[in-house]
Amino acid sequence: MSLTQFAIIESTLREGEQFAGANFTPAQKMKIAEKLDEFGVEMLELSSPVASPQSEADVRMIVGMKLRARVLTHIRCNRDDALRALDTGVDGLDIVIGTSPALRKHSHGKTIDEIIDLAREVLTFVRRQAPNIILRFSTEDTFRSNEADLLRVYLAVAELGVLDRLGVADTVGIATPRQVYHLVSLLRRLTGLDIEFHGHNDSGCAIANAYAALEAGATHVDTTVLGIGERNGITPLGGLIARLYLDNRELLMKKYRLHLLYEIDHMVAEMVGVQVPFNNYITGATFFTHKAGIHTKAVLAAPETYESINPSDFGLKRKVHIAHRLTGWNAVRNRARELGLSLTDEQVKAATQRIKELADQRIVTPEEVDEMLRAQAILG
Ligand SMILES: [Zn+2]
Repeated sequence: MSLTQFAIIESTLREGEQFAGANFTPAQKMKIAEKLDEFGVEMLELSSPVASPQSEADVRMIVGMKLRARVLTHIRCNRDDALRALDTGVDGLDIVIGTSPALRKHSHGKTIDEIIDLAREVLTFVRRQAPNIILRFSTEDTFRSNEADLLRVYLAVAELGVLDRLGVADTVGIATPRQVYHLVSLLRRLTGLDIEFHGHNDSGCAIANAYAALEAGATHVDTTVLGIGERNGITPLGGLIARLYLDNRELLMKKYRLHLLYEIDHMVAEMVGVQVPFNNYITGATFFTHKAGIHTKAVLAAPETYESINPSDFGLKRKVHIAHRLTGWNAVRNRARELGLSLTDEQVKAATQRIKELADQRIVTPEEVDEMLRAQAILG
């Protein structure tokens, strides 16, 4: 069964702004919002307008862009924050409060009963103020919270009948796909509400957890470009896209403008002063590079043999790396043809042997291989 009902809440302008290297200017924020909207994400989440005067101005600026994506802002569970956020004209509020013992003790100091009372009051208040706004309530540090506490909180707020969506947050990146599946399916069954998953990547499970959430019936997943966020960040947009593409290529190609991903990843990397990692989903330097002779032969004959993702769906090209000791003569022959050289199979095999011998001694460049092939053609 493939997933068909889901929306991406792109949080590069909220969670991503919490990345160590991020100090977005208004112009950069505008560019990010514009590109993500063009890519086709359904929602953009912005830092709270309460964070600073510039943050408030930036929320108003992005609301003023009149994008296709709905604009949300992420706020604490209190009336003052909610009023200030509503005043900016956003389409939705993502309201959050910590429920784990650690956050209750060291962050806001409230008991579960007090959290329920506060959430009831704030959520009802917001809905009265703004009948049409998208309203989400999330616990924070959900997966270190007591499950009985969580259910009391979620059922109490769901019962109000004022919410569009519940959020679950793996704030410190400890959840496993199995745990996420369990909680999301439970909440879905008990409340019938849309569910949003926000997952950190401390133990490398952020994409798998987001996917498990969707399999369990979640409707929304939070992402950031390159996964940037607090510490090592959250579910990366490109990684989630890769996962969902494998699930339902046609739907993904229809829903999103996939060829913009490369530009978006590289643009944000530059803005926050990092490189796109070589092994990054889709857009990393080696993502579509084939090397070993046994792979390159098959890939040149039929790319699907060693590719699950078609680079051309993302406006990208595969690379066949032949300047090394693992090279194979089929790939070398392919390169000779690309260079317009007509070599016999024996000549190609001889050139391949020389590449291997040389590569055993030292690093060989692709330019040297091309030279060797040209020389072979001249020698005949
Ligand atoms: Zn987070």
